[in-house]
Amino acid sequence: MRATVMYRAGDVRIENVPDPRLVEPSDAVVRVSRACICGSDLWPYNLMEPGEPPRRMGHEAIGVVEAVGSGVRIVKIGDVVVMPFAFSDGTCVFCHEGLYTSCVHGGFFGTVKVPGAQAEAVRIPLADGTLFVLPVGEDDALMASLLTLSDVMGTGHHAARTARVDRGKTVVVIGDGAVGLCGVIAARRLGAEQIVLLGRHPDRIALAKAFGTTDVVSERGEEAVERVRKLTSGLGAHSVLECVGTEQAILTAIGITRAGGAVGRVGVPHYPAIPASEPAFYNNVTISGGPAPVRAYIEELLPDVLEGRIEPGRVLDRVIGLDKVPDGYRAMNERQAIKVMVKP
Ligand SMILES: [Zn+2]
Repeated sequence: MRATVMYRAGDVRIENVPDPRLVEPSDAVVRVSRACICGSDLWPYNLMEPGEPPRRMGHEAIGVVEAVGSGVRIVKIGDVVVMPFAFSDGTCVFCHEGLYTSCVHGGFFGTVKVPGAQAEAVRIPLADGTLFVLPVGEDDALMASLLTLSDVMGTGHHAARTARVDRGKTVVVIGDGAVGLCGVIAARRLGAEQIVLLGRHPDRIALAKAFGTTDVVSERGEEAVERVRKLTSGLGAHSVLECVGTEQAILTAIGITRAGGAVGRVGVPHYPAIPASEPAFYNNVTISGGPAPVRAYIEELLPDVLEGRIEPGRVLDRVIGLDKVPDGYRAMNERQAIKVMVKP
């Protein structure tokens, strides 16, 4: 089959690789009907060093189950399933607490050890605990929005939850990528009254407004902090969704959080230490977040997708075939596309 392999920064290829097969009794093999390129895939696309082992990329997919191991009880051949970006057994102490990304037997797709889903097919470890069976056909009109339940919509929701978004609250979303835009959807869905987006790309801002953003701040750093303070009666925001992962983003996040407020971090941090520890301390700011246990959120978000109350699939503004995946990375990296859907 064909699959996406990243060799080093800027060098991502489509190659022929062996077909995935069942290895453990708890495995399934899924034929990929839709996959995505993620903003987080751009980190290795920009930073991966020569000499690092190649990676089979992709951690978001919807597909059809083609084979199941002898120990698989719930998932069946022919099921249309969404694959969360992390796999999990669904039975351990953390899975029972809903923190599937900390599953004691779990791990992440698209890593050196576990091949990813930007491919014609993918092996799913712990299939019963990992896959979520969707009540739709393979070519459902809602496919784009359903696909975001693999990662970006669940991650935006996690940012909102960990930043303690609630009815009537003031929320700031840092980052106008797909996760930030889904963070806007999540904040609106949870009843936020004011939603300020920190972003500067006109197409993304337009979508953010359609999703419920009330104010846009395009400044950065200190100027952004000042602007947000002005927009929030000088107090700052109750909830800040940090959807970027740079040091500047977390510094800004802490700078604009109201005393007693919370920051939800979902941008993979590319800084060694959390800055601004003194203002965070004196303002009683909670800094929370981490990889989103999206498997736990599918059940909650799915009805809103199926009934059209939220349309996170609008962040997928380009559709390509597998052979065009290298172009897809380039387009996202150059901010010509918000998020790319891959149809193998
Ligand atoms: Zn578990």
